[in-house]
Amino acid sequence: MKILVLNCGSSSLKYQFIDMDTEEVVAKGLCERIGIEGSRLVHKVPGKPDYEENTPMPDHQKAVELVMAALTDAEHGVISDVKEIAAVGHRVLHGGATYSDSIIVDEDVKRVIRECFDLGPLHNPANLMGIEACEAAMPGTPNVAVWDTGFGMAMDPKAYMYAIPYEYYEKYQIRRYGFHGTSHKFVSGETIRFGNLPEGHRKVIVCHLGNGASISASINGKCVDTSMGLTPLEGLIMGTRSGDVDPAVVQFIANHENLTVDEVLNILNKKSGVLGISGVSSDFRDLDAAEEQGNERAKLANEAFRYRVVKYIGAYVAAMDGVDAIAFTAGVGENNGEARKLICDSLSYLGIKIDDEANKTRGKNMLISTPDSKVKVFVIPTNEELSIARDTLALVQ
Ligand code: AMP
Repeated sequence: MKILVLNCGSSSLKYQFIDMDTEEVVAKGLCERIGIEGSRLVHKVPGKPDYEENTPMPDHQKAVELVMAALTDAEHGVISDVKEIAAVGHRVLHGGATYSDSIIVDEDVKRVIRECFDLGPLHNPANLMGIEACEAAMPGTPNVAVWDTGFGMAMDPKAYMYAIPYEYYEKYQIRRYGFHGTSHKFVSGETIRFGNLPEGHRKVIVCHLGNGASISASINGKCVDTSMGLTPLEGLIMGTRSGDVDPAVVQFIANHENLTVDEVLNILNKKSGVLGISGVSSDFRDLDAAEEQGNERAKLANEAFRYRVVKYIGAYVAAMDGVDAIAFTAGVGENNGEARKLICDSLSYLGIKIDDEANKTRGKNMLISTPDSKVKVFVIPTNEELSIARDTLALVQ
């Protein structure tokens, strides 16, 4: 059975076509600049040259049609008929307080995605467009919504409530939701499986450290706490997002710079994080290069980033009254051994010891702590698309 996974952004559409018998990617690609001049499709099939098409894509409907055409093309395609697509799994950013489990899309699901437009203003409209485009292009093929907020929905009220007047929770469902849910679900599950963690010893902290960064605490795969909140702005310092700040900062900047709240929020989302501190880049490789050349603010940004991770790990050990394993994932977590080492060196009070040789690992499952380390530390590459495809398969099989 083959499943198409779609991740629609406001002007982009990423896809992977996965054979679920082998869990291998048969084809994948990206449509960029949807609705903007210069739209482009890049379609990749293992063992074949990449196929590129520069053609106008006024909307997601056209993008989905081009993806269907690429998948069924005689030369660079991988199937002869779209009927071979058993189902489509969609990454949907926000399911509000209504949905946590993945679900086959019907009118009610679409209504909830629409109701959550103001909670995910960039993504939810695009996600709905992707679903409706698939309904039009492949009538009868099931679409499954996999919520990025799904994993965090298992949090207890004491972890997800903001200490603001309760009526705002009742009226608007203002609470902490958490994001990167498919990644945290996949990596916490892989940590238990790969690490052979026995029942009763499955307190796991997942550090998803990429351009977007978040951290989760889970017991037996069930989320206890996670660092992102009502929106992905809360928590760790990220590439361009500030993470936690005193809300009074918003008022102060707005008053002194004569900006609206929306404008300050835009700064906290797009011009802050390690980019804001360093003034160099949001990309951690650029930061490392600048730090090596003696740039003090790049050094400070890296230090602040790691310090926040260390602080959250400490908080999550407390929240779970212990920890059995810590897993690093995403761009920095999977590739940057030095960041992992420096973070873990600050956790010696937990009895963590890193095996420097194993820590040279990049991009594959690996135990990187020593045999006598009191907490196991792993590198576990995330695979959000496979996580979405597995949920989709389970619902349509
Ligand atoms: P992601 O959002 O998961 O794609 O992660 C993107 C971030 O990971 C960027 O800031 C990259 O600089 C960082 N990254 C990716 N590959 C590496 C690498 N080999 N070494 C260090 N950082 C990396």
